[in-house]
Amino acid sequence: MSWVVHKFGGSSLADAEAFRHVADLLSSLADERQAVVVSAMQGTTDALIELAHAAAGEAMHSAPDWEEAFDALCRRHLECADALQIDQALLDRLRQSFADLRHLLEGLALLGSLPDEVLDLVSGLGEQWSARILVGVFEQGGQSATFVDARDVIRIERGELGPVPLMDESRRSLEALSLSETGRIVMTGFSCRDVSGRVTTLGRNGSDFSATILAALLDAGAVHIWTDVEGVLSADPRRVPQAEVVHRLSYREAFELAYFGARVLHPQTLAPLLQRAIPVRIRSTRLPDSPGTLIDRHGSSSPPVKGVSCIEKLALINIEGAGMLGVPGTAERVFETLQRADISVTMISQGSSEHSICCVLPKSDGERARELLNQRFLHEIDSGQLQRISVLDDIEVLAIVGDGMAGSPGVAGRLFSSLGRAGVNVRAIAQGSSERNISVAVDAAASTRALRAVHSAFYLSDQTLSIGLIGPGQVGRALLGQMRDARQRLLETAHIDLRVRAVANSKAMELADAQLSDAGFSGRLEQGAALDFDRFAAHVHAEHLPHAIIIDCSASDAVADCYGDWLARGIHVITPNKHAGSGDLDRYRKLRELASGTGARWRYEATVGAGLPVVQTLRDLIDSGDRVLRVEGIFSGTLAWLFNRFGTGMSFAALVREARESGYTEPDPRDDLSGTDVARKLVILGREMGMDLTLDGVEVESLVPEELSDGSVEEFLAGLEVLDEQMRQRIDDARANGQCLRYTAALDARGNARVGLESLALDHPFAHLALTDNVVAFTTERYSENPLIVQGPGAGPEVTAAGVFSDLLRIAQAR
Ligand code: ADP
Ligand code: ASP
Ligand code: MG
Repeated sequence: MSWVVHKFGGSSLADAEAFRHVADLLSSLADERQAVVVSAMQGTTDALIELAHAAAGEAMHSAPDWEEAFDALCRRHLECADALQIDQALLDRLRQSFADLRHLLEGLALLGSLPDEVLDLVSGLGEQWSARILVGVFEQGGQSATFVDARDVIRIERGELGPVPLMDESRRSLEALSLSETGRIVMTGFSCRDVSGRVTTLGRNGSDFSATILAALLDAGAVHIWTDVEGVLSADPRRVPQAEVVHRLSYREAFELAYFGARVLHPQTLAPLLQRAIPVRIRSTRLPDSPGTLIDRHGSSSPPVKGVSCIEKLALINIEGAGMLGVPGTAERVFETLQRADISVTMISQGSSEHSICCVLPKSDGERARELLNQRFLHEIDSGQLQRISVLDDIEVLAIVGDGMAGSPGVAGRLFSSLGRAGVNVRAIAQGSSERNISVAVDAAASTRALRAVHSAFYLSDQTLSIGLIGPGQVGRALLGQMRDARQRLLETAHIDLRVRAVANSKAMELADAQLSDAGFSGRLEQGAALDFDRFAAHVHAEHLPHAIIIDCSASDAVADCYGDWLARGIHVITPNKHAGSGDLDRYRKLRELASGTGARWRYEATVGAGLPVVQTLRDLIDSGDRVLRVEGIFSGTLAWLFNRFGTGMSFAALVREARESGYTEPDPRDDLSGTDVARKLVILGREMGMDLTLDGVEVESLVPEELSDGSVEEFLAGLEVLDEQMRQRIDDARANGQCLRYTAALDARGNARVGLESLALDHPFAHLALTDNVVAFTTERYSENPLIVQGPGAGPEVTAAGVFSDLLRIAQAR
C-alpha cells in the first residue's frame, strides 16, 4: 500500500476552523495511506523566536514583558484545542509542553544569553503543538492518526548549501517506529536532529523540506503541498498582483524560483524527490479543486519564462582596478576570502575587460566582506593596482526563470528593454550557463517596479501605463476622451492598459490610485490639492505600475523646465507644447541626452502639424539613411485659412476678425500673425535633422505692424485696418503675375531657415489647400524629383490630441 504525503503550511492552520477544514479535506481524499506534515500555526514560529530572544534579554529584541507574549501564545493554542473539543489527555500534554517552555524561558532570563541549541529547540515547538492538535481533531472525529515527532526520525548534517538529510539513518529511525499497520500519520515539520543528536531545524519555511524527506523515506507516490495560494505563481502575489498560476514546472525550474526568493517553496524541497522522480503538487487549501502546480521531472517548455522572483536584503561589492587586467586569480582570491568567512555569494559578474568584479551577498555581511577584501588586497590597493572596493547596500537580485529560455532567442532583450523602459538601473547581470535563469542586481527601491515591468513584458500581465496629464484644456480634454473610448479595445487586442492617474492645471492637481473617474474632473480640480510637480511626478511614477508617462498639454515654458527631472526618473514625456523643442538649446540637448540615456522617451509629434505624421516621417527618413535636402510647407492652420480666403473680396482685417470669431486663431491673433509659432515648428524640424537651430536663426516675416505690436488684443483688433493697404498691394502684385499669396516656411540642409509671405504659382502644391490644412514637403536624396508630401488638417483639438495619442501608443508598443 502506498503513501501520499500532504504538507500543510502555517497559512492553512491559522485557527480552529482551519484545523477542522484540513481534517475534513484529508478525510475526503482517496489515498491508501496518508502521511501528513504540518507547520506551526500561522505566526507561531516568529513568536517563539521573538520570545526566546526577549527572555534572554537581548538588546535588539528586549521586551521586559515577554511573559505577556508567552501567555498570549499559550492561550491561542489552548483556545484552539478547546474549540476543537480535543481529548483531555491531549490537552494536558499541551499544557505540560507550555509549562516546560516557561521553565526554559525563565532559564534564559537567568542566563541572559541565548545559546543556538536552545533557540533551535524553542523555535521548533510550534510544530509539536499543531501536530498534536491535528491528531486530536482526527481522534475526536472517530478516525485514527499517529503522531510522529520528526526529531525521532529526520537526521541531517550541515552542508555548504544548508542541511543535508542523512537518508539511511533517517530511514532506520523511521522503521524503528513500526508504522507498517498505520493508515495515517501526522508528523511535525521543520524540526529534526543533527549528527550529534542535537535538536535543530531545517531552516525557515523548512516544513516543505520535511515533507519531501518523509516522502523519499516512505517511497511515497506523490507529495501535495497545501498552502494559501493556488499554486506556484509567476511572481510573488504581494508584489505583483497580476501574477498567475503556473501549471507545470520542472524540478529545476521550481528550484530556481525558490532559490531566487519564491517563498512558496523552501529551496531544498525538491532534492529528496529527484532520484525516485516523485511528483509534487502545490495546491490551495481554500480551493482544493483547482489543479494547482504540478512539479515533476518533465515540466513544460512553454511559456519559456515561468516566473520572476527577487532575493531581498542584499549588498553589492564592487572591486575595480586596472591592476586586475591580465592578472590571473583575482576572482579566485575574492571568492576564497569570502568563502573562508562563510559569506555566501548570490551572484557574480565580471566584465570581460576584467576591469572590475562584482558580487552580490547578504546585506548583513556587506561591511564585513569589504573589510576582509580590503585586508586581502591591501598590497594592491596601496600600490594603486586596485582603485577601490565599494559596497552598495539595499540591493535585490531579480531573476527570470524557465527551461524554455535556452531555445528562445530574444528573452534577454525583452528583459532588459522592459527594465530600461521602466527606468530601472541595472547594477550587474549574470546568466546561468544553463540558460535557465538570467539574474540582474537592482536597487531595492526600484525592485517592485522592476518585477512588475519584467512580469508584464513577458505577457504575464497587461502592459500598464500610469499616465499624468497636465493642462486639461481643449487638447487635453479631447485626449482624455480619445483614451477613454479606446481603452477597452486596447486592453483586449494589445494588452495595453491605459490608466490616467493624475491631472493638473496650472494651480491644482487631482491624483487617483487606480484611475481618475472621467466625468467632472475640472470641477473637482477647483477643489483639488495645490499643484506640486514633485508629488505629481512621484505619483505617476508609481512603484507598482511598470510604465509612467506625463503628457504636457499646457503651453507653458515652466512645465517644459520639468521634463529633465521627469526623464531622469524614467518617466516618459509626451507633449504638443513647443517650448522645449524650440526653446533654449542647452535644455534641448540635455533632454535629448536624458531621453537616450534613461530609456525614458520624449515625444512631440503633435508640435508640428498636430496629428499629421510630420516628426515621425522626418525621423524615419533620417533613420533609414536618406539625406534631407529641404523641408518646406505651410505650418499654420490659421495662416493657411486666412490666405486661402484672402483675395475673394473681404479685406484682410475683416478676415482676421472672422478667423478669431470662428476660433481659428489664438486668443491673441498676433501669436499667429507674428510667425513665431511657425518659426518654432521649423526649429523643431531643424533640430530633428541634427542642426543646432534656434529661433534667432530663423528669418521671420511678421505680419504684425510695428505700431500694433504692443497694446491690448482689443486695441490690436480695432487698429487692424492699417494692414489692409499693404496686404492689398501684395495680393494685387501676386495676381498680376498669375500667382497667389501663401505664408510658408522653408529650411534647407545648410540651415537656412525662413518663414514669411511668398507668392506661388497657382499650380504649386501649396496653392490648393482646404480650410486649415497644413502641408509639409520633404525633398530628399530619395525623394528628389518629386517631394514626399504630408498634408491634412493641421489644427484643432481632436487632431492634435490624436497626434499625442499616437506618441503614447508608440511608447506602449516599443518592446
Ligand atoms: P505556508 O505557510 O503554506 O508554507 P508560505 O507563506 O510559506 O505558506 O508561502 C506561501 C506564500 O508565498 C504565498 O502566500 C505568497 O504570498 C508567497 N509567494 C512568494 N512568491 C510566490 C510565488 N512565486 N508563487 C506563489 N506564492 C509565492
Ligand atoms: N514554521 C516554520 C517557519 O515558519 C516552518 C514552516 O512554516 O515551514 O519557518
Ligand atoms: Mg512555507
